[in-house]
Amino acid sequence: LTTADLIEEHRICVCVRKRPLNKKELSVKDLDVITIPSKDVVMVHEPKQKVDLTRYLENQTFRFDYAFDDSTTNEMVYRFTARPLVETIFERGMATCFAYGQTGSGKTHTMGGDFSGKNQDLTRDVFLMLKKPNYKKLDLQVYATFFEIYSGKVFDLLNRKAKLRVLEDGKQQVQVVGLQEKEVKCTEDVLKLIEVGNSCRTSGQTSANAHSSRSHAVFQIILRRKGKMHGKFSLIDLAGNERGADTSSADRQTRLEGAEINKSLLALKIATISPGMTSCENTLNTLRYANRVKEL
Ligand code: ADP
Ligand code: MG
Repeated sequence: LTTADLIEEHRICVCVRKRPLNKKELSVKDLDVITIPSKDVVMVHEPKQKVDLTRYLENQTFRFDYAFDDSTTNEMVYRFTARPLVETIFERGMATCFAYGQTGSGKTHTMGGDFSGKNQDLTRDVFLMLKKPNYKKLDLQVYATFFEIYSGKVFDLLNRKAKLRVLEDGKQQVQVVGLQEKEVKCTEDVLKLIEVGNSCRTSGQTSANAHSSRSHAVFQIILRRKGKMHGKFSLIDLAGNERGADTSSADRQTRLEGAEINKSLLALKIATISPGMTSCENTLNTLRYANRVKEL
């Protein structure tokens, strides 16, 4: 089965990525408690050098659509997750990729580092697809939006952090009023926008990390045909999941969107996990949550 088949079958595809132990964890001799024994299984176990696979059941085992171990590159994660969805938006669909997990587990890294850097595979593939004869004749225009949800409020990162209102129409469709859509003609255009957006994201004393652990960042690629929406791809780098449930309206918003996704969108969730024993509690929470998402 390819990812595309899985998505077709389930509508929602849940993948988990384990990152390597980092310098800090190694320096305090944190131990690896995560093993990915096959391409869809994640095991959380007592720290030990080698995992005895025959003792599977005594450990905590989770199954996902895909499990990526710590040797997986961003490029591989992309190829198995977001890549199959590029076609979806050309076929008039909506695609969403969320990165969910504890702060420091690798959400932003998996999104290609604040959506920028060399890993903007998605934009590259959108512009390649645009050149295919079938889609070329549709004369589609490409737009980008970039906003964040911070402490219950929505800010437009492509319009000097203007505070935006969010409305829900009668059909439970969510609209961010006045959100700037910038037309983009090539990958460089997109990278420039992302740079602008990221530079206005943090302000004052808050460090980028402290800020991103509390805010959701949303980057979207929108295809339009004669002005009308044709397809939309949303990449969402969620706030760290280690905080208690926030009951602000924007979070209600996220839940509403979740319900909407459940009903009509093609969605993909990625969860990222830290390998260390000291993160075990958060890791189990992430895996249990990600596991429930599969049942939506
Ligand atoms: P988050 O966004 O979930 O808070 P980050 O993506 O910022 O976490 O990752 C925290 C740190 O770990 C960063 O320095 C990042 O480069 C590094 N990192 C995360 N995932 C990986 C990975 N799979 N391989 C190597 N380094 C990683
Ligand atoms: Mg981050």
